[in-house]
Amino acid sequence: MKVLKFGGTSVGSAKVIQQVQAIVQQQAKQEKVIVVVSAMSGTTDVLLNAGDLAAKGNEDYKNFIQQIEQRHLEAVKVLMPVQNQSSILSLIKKHCNEIEDLCKGIFLLQELSGRTKDKLVSYGELMSSQMIAAAFNANGLPTTWKDSRELIKTNSNFTNAQVIFSQTNTNIATFVEGVATDVILLPGFIASDDNNINTTLGRGGSDYTAAIVAAAVNAGSVEIWTDVSGMMTADPR
Ligand code: ASP
Ligand code: MG
Repeated sequence: MKVLKFGGTSVGSAKVIQQVQAIVQQQAKQEKVIVVVSAMSGTTDVLLNAGDLAAKGNEDYKNFIQQIEQRHLEAVKVLMPVQNQSSILSLIKKHCNEIEDLCKGIFLLQELSGRTKDKLVSYGELMSSQMIAAAFNANGLPTTWKDSRELIKTNSNFTNAQVIFSQTNTNIATFVEGVATDVILLPGFIASDDNNINTTLGRGGSDYTAAIVAAAVNAGSVEIWTDVSGMMTADPR
């Protein structure tokens, strides 16, 4: 078993998501693959900006949500044939309606807590992972999608939660054992606490999700795929 993680830039457009599928498809011929993905590049920041604006009583937050919705809907339209699109399109619309409702709440209260931030940013990873799983399935790569919040348990230190490994390891191992498809796809970054309230593992936390999952299933390897080659000692950009 192998864990592959693709970051925001690697899932930032339909074109690169197709490249991701080619990589996963190739690897899944040899062994079971667990794929962890981030939100489409920039989505987390846009969601946080929307929340900040709403908390300041600025209705421009709506434009940001619109932008996120558009981007996902457009990607879906490139990624799969029309007859496969309807359920994922409505799922994305449902998530974006929830983001609107959440931001409306933030706007009315003019308050943005860590707990609410975690709920808000979770939609980025949820939408990217559900969209990519739908694309894989529509394009001949049977894939099981799972909500990482049901597997990775943390304390309630919102925006930077600590993992409770005893529960998390058992949840992941038990789940993975019961999956029949060669590919499992999980959203990175998001988790939940004892009360099933949404938490996150800290910015950039999808790499950590991949490591947590790999350790729990005793994977042969974990690969962090990114958009630049080599091993960098500084930001290559
Ligand atoms: N989407 C999250 C972030 O931007 C997690 C990640 O990309 O690893 O921080
Ligand atoms: Mg990263």
